Amino acid sequence: AELWQSVPLAPPDSIFQLTAAYKEDTFEKKINLGVGAYRDDDNKPWILPVVKEATRILLNDETLDHEYLPITGLPEFTVGAAKLILGSSSPALAEARVASVQTISGTGANHLGALFLSKFYQWGTNEKRVYLSNPTWANHHAIFKNVGIEPVDYPYYDPKTIGLDFTGFIDALNAAPERSVFLLHACAHNPTGVDPTQEQWAAIADALIAKKHYAFVDCAYQGFASGDLDKDAWAVRFFVEKGVPMLVCQSFAKNAGLYGERVGALHVVSPNKETSTKVKSQLSVLSRSEISNPPSHGARIVSLILNNPNMFEAWKRDIKTMAGRIIDMRKELFRLLTEELHTPGNWDHIVNQIGMFSFTGINPTQSKALTSEAHVYLTANGRISMAGLNTKNVRYFAESLDAVVR
Ligand code: PMP
Repeated sequence: AELWQSVPLAPPDSIFQLTAAYKEDTFEKKINLGVGAYRDDDNKPWILPVVKEATRILLNDETLDHEYLPITGLPEFTVGAAKLILGSSSPALAEARVASVQTISGTGANHLGALFLSKFYQWGTNEKRVYLSNPTWANHHAIFKNVGIEPVDYPYYDPKTIGLDFTGFIDALNAAPERSVFLLHACAHNPTGVDPTQEQWAAIADALIAKKHYAFVDCAYQGFASGDLDKDAWAVRFFVEKGVPMLVCQSFAKNAGLYGERVGALHVVSPNKETSTKVKSQLSVLSRSEISNPPSHGARIVSLILNNPNMFEAWKRDIKTMAGRIIDMRKELFRLLTEELHTPGNWDHIVNQIGMFSFTGINPTQSKALTSEAHVYLTANGRISMAGLNTKNVRYFAESLDAVVR
């Protein structure tokens, strides 16, 4: 037989397919709510002013070259990144028991974390499994399967309340065999926009500790969710304080608007410094065989921002601009649906959910109708990206949504 003849044709990635269909549509009022990237009020990608400034500084820095970075990344970047997510007064950092490695954005951090667990986690008699929220970022499934870890679902989203299935979640934590691995979204859960409250996080931490579970924490939206970097890191820092065994995957794609630059880090928290040194040595070996050395440009940009107090303040303002616009769109959509259009149903979740994404609660038929009748592009599960809404199109979207649910 001809070489590769038996290779099955894979389906196209649904999100990228959606964007292609949107681009082909010639309707003037078309809206793309599938996109997972920030857009400004003119529906344009936004380069953060602080990133522009950092880029200018790098361009004029005659001491920089294109040599390889160390295997584990730019040290000023990984140290600054660890402080950003864990907090500068983190006990784990003070005790030098965090192994931080620069990765190919959040995806690379998830991959390296999964690969590390696959090789070194004390699975004991447990099967190699990871518990994923139902639903989760679709790539989580593929990332774990790729390294021989089988994904299994835990209850998370409750379609009846369009909120958290807290009881189902806690029951799953209690029912899983000891030392199971649970993937948790640090904030701004993708795709639902539904996060646990602080009280609920505390109960989740208790259940994790009681069953000696491992928390694989994915943090792709720090600052982007609430507009406040510390607030969005609350759960991560609380877990470290409580002593939950854990690692954190960190992405600068959204909060610094550096999507294509692939800036991220993996932070593995260990019980002590000696263990942490060993963990870091193995992460380095794994990274060496996969990427040899991480890319330098984006890490240099973020390193400048994290380590220069003025630029850090400017970044916080830029983050507030993005998160603030998204929060404003939530409020405006909610106001239009409830006060102006009197759309049937309860829409509280639009303002209660957090981050870029919102689960509207509409069914696949209604979602399809939005696309075919109103030229509004969104995933079949009813998830919308708030970043695709702006002051010019939010009314048209509200009216279109109203029409399909009526
Ligand atoms: N985790 C989650 C939950 C995400 O939503 C994303 C971005 N869509 C990522 C990780 C990784 O994104 P990136 O690799 O661009 O940092």
